[in-house]
Amino acid sequence: RRRRAEDSVMRPATTGNGVPVHVLVNVADPSDVDRIDIANCDGVGLMRTEFLFGKGLPDEKTQYLAYRTVLEWAAGKPVTIRTIDAGGDKPVPGFTVEESNPFLGLRGIRLSLARPEVFRVQIRALLRAAVHGNLKVMFPMIAVPEEYARAAALFAEEASNLAGAGVPHAMPPLGLMVEVPSVAIAPELFCDAAFFSIGSNDLTQYLMAAARDNTAVAALNSVTNPAVLRLIASVAAFGWLHDIPVSLCGDAGGDPAAIPCLLEAGLRDLSVAPAQLALVKAAIAGVAV
Ligand code: PEP
Ligand code: MG
Repeated sequence: RRRRAEDSVMRPATTGNGVPVHVLVNVADPSDVDRIDIANCDGVGLMRTEFLFGKGLPDEKTQYLAYRTVLEWAAGKPVTIRTIDAGGDKPVPGFTVEESNPFLGLRGIRLSLARPEVFRVQIRALLRAAVHGNLKVMFPMIAVPEEYARAAALFAEEASNLAGAGVPHAMPPLGLMVEVPSVAIAPELFCDAAFFSIGSNDLTQYLMAAARDNTAVAALNSVTNPAVLRLIASVAAFGWLHDIPVSLCGDAGGDPAAIPCLLEAGLRDLSVAPAQLALVKAAIAGVAV
């Protein structure tokens, strides 16, 4: 029995009617990958970098080594690293600010753009790490196209600084998280992005006006609400039509009860908590799309 479960987690995921689905993992601490066999997944769909900022602002070398560790572990499979998403449910001492409503405040890319001297350190570490694997970088909490453009311009500037200093580096594809409803509703404004990754945790809380960290409204905070699913399906359809890869990296991807709806909505790339890999692949195998 155990043997059969182990065998099935090693196989690439396919639906009951043979449609391939990519299943990637979400990681935070670079040591998370020690417990995962890269053969069992299609790469890293989300590396949350907040962990590195837990004890203050990490220097460029610390960040570079952390990103490089995960890229080398992935051995050529894609690794999507998200730039710092501080604020909201992820306060970072010495970086985030006191606010009356942190989920609607200076969070994610907003804070990074407000503190470019901190953001540039992470950008240089990512550009240098990019030579060690198949890196993609994505920005959290994008709400308007100007934020993406400003972040991409900082990447270009730092790449040219590194080139000037003769430091090895590479420019990764730059994408964005679809987790603020404005992006999901008007994705055509964001076609400069190389890819989209749906953050269903935040997209659901912002759409349903139900905080993700408040159990009293947990029933409202549901990815299978028809409005949420319709919005996810529209983003997936936009991606297919315009050749922009769309994945989903929120917790819904690891929920066997949500998986039939997410595949039905048109998604074929899910990034899930490593502990969910076997369950997710089994759930995918049980769906015909
Ligand atoms: C999300 O919002 O769905 C997501 C993946 O990001 P986080 O949970 O880190 O906010
Ligand atoms: Mg989020």
